[in-house]
Amino acid sequence: MESWQKLLSGSVVKVEDLPFLPDTSEEYREKLRKVSEIYPIRINGYFKEQIKSQGDPLWMQVVPTLEELDDFLSDEELLEPDPLNEEEDMPVPELVHRYPDRVLLMVNNQCPIICRFCTRKRKIGFPGVVTRETLRQGIEYIRTHTEVRDVILSGGDPLLVPDKELDRILSELRAIPHLELIRIGTRVPGTLPQRITDDLLEILKKYHPLYFNMHFNHPAEITPEVEAACNRLADIGIPLGSQTVLLKGVNDNSETMKELFHKLLKIRVKPYYLYQADMTMGTDHFRTQVEKGLDIIRDLAGHTSGMGVPYFVIDAPGGGGKVRLLPDSVIEYNEDEVIVKNYEGKVFRYPQPKVNGDKKKYFSPSSPVPEPDACTMTA
Ligand SMILES: *Cc1c(COP(=O)(O)O)cnc(C)c1O
Repeated sequence: MESWQKLLSGSVVKVEDLPFLPDTSEEYREKLRKVSEIYPIRINGYFKEQIKSQGDPLWMQVVPTLEELDDFLSDEELLEPDPLNEEEDMPVPELVHRYPDRVLLMVNNQCPIICRFCTRKRKIGFPGVVTRETLRQGIEYIRTHTEVRDVILSGGDPLLVPDKELDRILSELRAIPHLELIRIGTRVPGTLPQRITDDLLEILKKYHPLYFNMHFNHPAEITPEVEAACNRLADIGIPLGSQTVLLKGVNDNSETMKELFHKLLKIRVKPYYLYQADMTMGTDHFRTQVEKGLDIIRDLAGHTSGMGVPYFVIDAPGGGGKVRLLPDSVIEYNEDEVIVKNYEGKVFRYPQPKVNGDKKKYFSPSSPVPEPDACTMTA
């Protein structure tokens, strides 16, 4: 088996080496080169092997197209380099403190692949963003802010940090008494599974409770190598979760999502979030209507294992944080009753307990629970 370092150093980073280009003319390549100057390219050797044809779901995620540049050049003011306003929520460089009790710490800005739809397109793949000094300040911030009980290591991808350095970061964090949880946000297990080495597992094992938030977008990403990597992580006791970005042309249909979430559960990964695509400059062509995500959740919830249905969220533009969206399950809601709709579209009435202790109402024959159909009239 080739080492992960070799697979990574052998990454496609130049337009010349991109697989399955739709147009091989020099003119087209020149335009793509402009795209790659703004938004770098990286496709590691393992991931490149998994791409089977032009436009397949893996190809779409990593091969640049001219649409990225169109977005950049257009007057479309809706799209921004930093749509979630992360830079404004950084009390120290490269640490986002948005929610009361948890922070996101960027520990590097390199990734095993560079996703064309990346929310942090503004900074991923460029040298010098995350440094020893920003990391030191980030850890110091957590140490001095006792309200922080949960840290998400992100970037970039924390698992591209060399073993020794990662060990040092994790041990410094673990030594902070008020920090209860460490989460690692990573696309490595699904895109460079060779990185999950015995040595890495030995390091990770020392820092429980350690959670993994991985990133999977399509069932084709779950290869035998990926399955083995996830099993090894699960075997050392790391709870595994996954987040998925809803992407036009990649996974914007219920069948694909269902297959993805079923496959994840089989490799002991819990689908956690399904993201509506952010309004990031250079990624507009991946965005879907919000209804699409709601439709997908509607098609899954109740129809399949509840564990396999992630929260569908919009990360609110401007830094509002994640907002969960649900297809309408509450039809009516007042102090007496709640009228709900189940996954089959059937309607049910749930009587509320009486606030002032007047329970009689609900046992009285004069107010029988109506037949489900009768409830629809109140809707
Ligand atoms: C998503 C996110 C978190 C973690 O959110 P959870 O809902 O707890 O998983 C924390 N900080 C930032 C900035 C985030 O974007």
